[in-house]
Amino acid sequence: MKNKLQSKNTDVVIVGAGPAGCAASMHLSKLGVDHMLLEKECFPRDKICGDALSGKVVDFFRKTNTTWLNEIDHRSAQFLPSNGVIFGAPNKQVLKVPFSTNSNQNKQAPGFISRRIDFDTFLASKVKNRLMENTEVLSAKRQNDIWEIQTNQRVIKSKIIISAAGAQSNWARKTHNFKIEKDHFCAGLRAYYNGVSGLDPQGFIELHFVKDILPGYFWIFPMAEGYANIGLGMLSSQISKDKINLKQKLQEVLALPQFKERFKSANLEGEILGWGLPLGSKKRPLSDDGILLTGDAASLIDPFTGEGIGNALNSGKLAAECAHLAIQSKNFAQSFLKQHYDQLVYQKLWSELRLSRIMQKLVRFPWLFNLVVNKANKNTTLRHTITCMFEDVDLRAKLKSPKFYLNLLRN
Ligand SMILES: Cc1cc2nc3c(=O)[nH]c(=O)nc-3n(C[C@H](O)[C@H](O)[C@H](O)COP(=O)(O)OP(=O)(O)OC[C@H]3O[C@@H](n4cnc5c(N)ncnc54)[C@H](O)[C@@H]3O)c2cc1C
Repeated sequence: MKNKLQSKNTDVVIVGAGPAGCAASMHLSKLGVDHMLLEKECFPRDKICGDALSGKVVDFFRKTNTTWLNEIDHRSAQFLPSNGVIFGAPNKQVLKVPFSTNSNQNKQAPGFISRRIDFDTFLASKVKNRLMENTEVLSAKRQNDIWEIQTNQRVIKSKIIISAAGAQSNWARKTHNFKIEKDHFCAGLRAYYNGVSGLDPQGFIELHFVKDILPGYFWIFPMAEGYANIGLGMLSSQISKDKINLKQKLQEVLALPQFKERFKSANLEGEILGWGLPLGSKKRPLSDDGILLTGDAASLIDPFTGEGIGNALNSGKLAAECAHLAIQSKNFAQSFLKQHYDQLVYQKLWSELRLSRIMQKLVRFPWLFNLVVNKANKNTTLRHTITCMFEDVDLRAKLKSPKFYLNLLRN
């Protein structure tokens, strides 16, 4: 039988096979929609990231394919179970918050940490019958409701494009006018170390809100086989304003008394690498005639935690559903896509993204952070409330209320 990928016409072309693109492909296949998934690199390929897979990622797999989730659960050399988060306050006090396991009936860990080189190869293996590697999309033009897509390999025609090309791609800049807005964009550094001491045995990730990098943070995420992913993220506007050299800042943080001992016998593996995080702290158009933007290409990263994989997977799924509907309705106009995609994405994500933006601003006041951590360390009920806040956005909304802090001061 002739391989479908030989065909130069299809209903949907997905640009980029990261989490957003793979999720879109998984769901287009479920819906029986003919499509191609084009990726400029060849797997296994690295992606600079903190490598933390949150409850949202676990939930995506639980809803998409539980067998795949079981596979993740059993690949302990690549996926380290993560059971919570340790917050380091600016006053160096730490607060240990387990992830809630309320919605987890199958007893998998609530989160995982996995090198993206492994996780993305795992995702790509689930969509390999649609995947064309070494295929870079160079440009696209649209005529009579049909896209003509120029790649380094061939020209492909499709009715819809799902752009999942991530942050900083030439394609995104050219085709959907992707621009860096420094107040809504973060720069991040990632390094792999082995031999870091004091890593949590239950895979708790560590977010340290060190005073002079606020509202950004320094992270230490334990990984399988004794490694750790460490890094630093800061708002681009602040980096420009204070003329910060991020690599130097990372070295300064590593030399702080609370971390110095832990890195005494640690060795850096490979290089320290940087990449951008387009934050979802501002609503933007997520579609145009015949095109849907997903994941980082749609700027959907949580502005407080820097988490983007879960939103990439979920926006990929919603884009697939919208593309299916558009093909059935033969309607590819921006007004239709906006109604069936942009509005759904923001209905699901905006209250959380907006709240994270508020928290990102509150973190600029170190004393507030110190107050919450100090009180929570003494108060079991408050600690439990904070655990539930990870799952429950309404509960998390308490953090923006002055009453919440007044009560803390009183008790
Ligand atoms: C330093 C750092 C730390 C982070 N830490 C975390 C974390 O711990 N947890 C978390 O959830 N999120 C984290 N994030 C965010 C997360 O990495 C992204 O949100 C996520 O990768 C977005 O997925 P995506 O599929 O949209 O894009 P990507 O993962 O960037 O995938 C885009 C794909 O498109 C391909 N591509 C690009 N242009 C073309 C083209 N023209 N033609 C064909 N293919 C193309 C690329 O090769 C790539 O494979 C971090 C980000 C950074 C920078």
